[in-house]
Amino acid sequence: MNLKELAEQIRDRFSNQGVKISASEIEQRLHSLVDDFKVPTEEASRSVVAYYSKLNLQQVSASATEVIYSKIKDINTEDKWINVRVRVVQLWEPNSPSIAQVGLLGDETGTIKFTSWSNAKLPILKDGKSYSIRNVVTKSWQGRFSISLNKASEITPLDEEVAVGRAEEEISGTIIDIQSGSGLIKRCPECNRVVVKGHCAEHGTVTGLYDLRIKGVLDDGEVVTDVLFNRELTERLTGMTLAEAKERAMEALDQNVVADAMKAVTIGRYYIVRGNKTPRWLLVTDFTEAPQIKDEDISAVLARAQELL
Ligand SMILES: [Zn+2]
Repeated sequence: MNLKELAEQIRDRFSNQGVKISASEIEQRLHSLVDDFKVPTEEASRSVVAYYSKLNLQQVSASATEVIYSKIKDINTEDKWINVRVRVVQLWEPNSPSIAQVGLLGDETGTIKFTSWSNAKLPILKDGKSYSIRNVVTKSWQGRFSISLNKASEITPLDEEVAVGRAEEEISGTIIDIQSGSGLIKRCPECNRVVVKGHCAEHGTVTGLYDLRIKGVLDDGEVVTDVLFNRELTERLTGMTLAEAKERAMEALDQNVVADAMKAVTIGRYYIVRGNKTPRWLLVTDFTEAPQIKDEDISAVLARAQELL
């Protein structure tokens, strides 16, 4: 076997381990050992293999110490640069041309919303695929953390699949309060933020879109937890649809009647609630009313509602 063939053999051996070295570079090293230092071919081959193995190990350990990946459940500060190893759990329709992609990423510890900005011109993330994503920035909105992919972010597809854990919790207790900002609200059509008096914090004066939500307080007898119900769950919890809520508000010429009616049918009732924990909120994904209250006469509930109103 000549040195060229030997070099190609060594190249193939490393390439099988995912390490790319050019055959000509290997051949050069072999020539130097064999011709200049009069080393026997077999020994030169061993020496070159040892050299590249050591180099590869150093590179692997160097990159392993450089990159520290954050776990999703540990993300609890804003504007922090981090690296994550994640799988794409869900992709949503971006509601603005400035957003290239928006959706949910997950790792073993939970899931988090991500936004990839159009001007960053990053590779498109595919649903269900796993990636190492370096240099992302943490953001927070309404007590909920997210990560932002920007021009500095580096996306590397992973061969292995990242397992996605459910960070859901289950708590049970009595709803003791419905906080302000509950009931019928309006959201900015651009960014989904809640519009206050026709004004979005980001987009100024906008025509808001109606939505329903409940920001409740659940008391399990020991601790109180802020629980957030989205529109669908609010409708199920209160039995009032968005259409009915709008109708009531228009009749009364007052948006607050909706929250008041919702308070009347929820406060004092006992629920088992599941959801994703954020530092402030339990974002409710499902709930059931405790059995002993299920049998309660609906007319009694309505009577109580009348009293409270
Ligand atoms: Zn907005």
